[in-house]
This record gives sequence, structure tokens and C-alpha cells, in this order.
Amino acid sequence: MEFPKEIMTYCPTCKKHEKHKLKPFKQGKARTLSLGTRKNIRKHKQGFGGRAKFIKPVNKRTKKTSFVAICEKCKKQHYFVIPKRMKKIELTA
Ligand SMILES: [Zn+2]
Repeated sequence: MEFPKEIMTYCPTCKKHEKHKLKPFKQGKARTLSLGTRKNIRKHKQGFGGRAKFIKPVNKRTKKTSFVAICEKCKKQHYFVIPKRMKKIELTA
């Protein structure tokens, strides 16, 4: 699917609709000793979750693509997700 590079969307800092530039979102490295990471390990990665044997979860084939939207007025960055699953997405001018 083709998607425009620049979109008009709500900016929480300017409190109105402004032009935003999109760039692909890249997940940062998780801190190994943060509370959230330790909780996640405790919850999911130890034992078999109440089952006798480990059952591998079924993964979905496609993902929702996420972007970073940068406001052209205040240069703030917001997380922006297209709420649809699709195989391929292209940013066009
Ligand atoms: Zn703004």
C-alpha cells in the first residue's frame, strides 16, 4: 500500500492539526535491568505458564506498521500507527 510522507494530524503540543512528516519507527534496545523487563521475564519466560509442556504461540503473518510523526511547527515527535495490518507499505511524496 502507498501512504503519503506528509500528513495532517493532531499535535498534542500545539493542540491543533498540523503538518507532520513521517519516518519509520525503530524500536530501541530494552534495558535489561529495568522493572518492566524483569516483570516480563517473570511472567512469560520462566516455566511453561501453567502447562505441562511449552506450546509455541501462533504468530500473525503481518504487522501493523508504526511511524514517528514529526510536527513541522514545534518539531516534536509523536508515535503514529496506521491501524491496519498489511504486508508492504511505501511512503510516497
Ligand atoms: Zn506541534
